[in-house]
Amino acid sequence: MKRRFLAIAMLLLCATAARTTGVSAGTQSASGWTASIEDVRRTAALIPGRRPLRINFLKFAESRRTKNFSVKDASATPSIQARTAFQVMYPDGYVMVDAGMDLAVHRFFGRGVEEPYFPEAARQLERAVRGATLIVVTHEHGDHVAGVIHTPVAAELASKTILTRTQVQTLMSMPQMPEIRLTDELARRFVVVDYDKYFPLAPGIALIKAGGHTPGSQMVYIALESGREYVLIGDATWHMDGVRLMKGKDASWITEDRGAVLAQLTWLNGLSRTAPNLLIVASHDEEQHTELVQKGVLANRLE
Ligand SMILES: [Zn+2]
Repeated sequence: MKRRFLAIAMLLLCATAARTTGVSAGTQSASGWTASIEDVRRTAALIPGRRPLRINFLKFAESRRTKNFSVKDASATPSIQARTAFQVMYPDGYVMVDAGMDLAVHRFFGRGVEEPYFPEAARQLERAVRGATLIVVTHEHGDHVAGVIHTPVAAELASKTILTRTQVQTLMSMPQMPEIRLTDELARRFVVVDYDKYFPLAPGIALIKAGGHTPGSQMVYIALESGREYVLIGDATWHMDGVRLMKGKDASWITEDRGAVLAQLTWLNGLSRTAPNLLIVASHDEEQHTELVQKGVLANRLE
């Protein structure tokens, strides 16, 4: 009852805030989250230099669940959640988006059930992370961030890994699992940034603040030299049906800001119609990755 009252109070508060700030209609939602693709594009163009040439990804583990967990009201048909990381290739180096995880952290996700883990892919990913010029993570969950924390080379990687202030706070005070808890000492080694809406990361790349799935979630917008555009949305949804149908997850173990996530799915849905050539890529949607590889717009390998 108390929680329900709080939720209603929050809703009223947000509605009032939206009215008093006079934000124009459109993507503005009750959660207050919104974004402008034009502003994102401008932010991505701020840092001079050649833009990226291509994007690679690799799957290093899987969760085998049914689709109804990923998309509320979907059927309980089998659905593979691919655990992946992305590599954004420049002419003279690359940026890793997400950093994978070791076997110990992988086992946490199985919750007692042994799920597929691909050691050779995990080793390739470890090498790619060590060779990266810069590393950034979509959010502070183990399958995305453990590769720069729960590893013997964490101190080395931290100096070239950008975490947001919110991600650091979550990792220090309420990490998803004990293995990724950040100590004071290690936290100080990371490059920590705090930004309001968008952040220019590298030529052609902008971060979009998108707290919801976790407090420190962000999306990564990438414009290639060819003009092709991508938004890596992390875990805003686990399956692209979440964007198509504008429906959130239905997973009891996930604590999300559902209002914010729904606002993000709604924005992405709009984007898929107004910018049909921009590719919205979910971290875990195996079906989508296969389709993008077939179309030649995503390469299933690391360099
Ligand atoms: Zn994930």
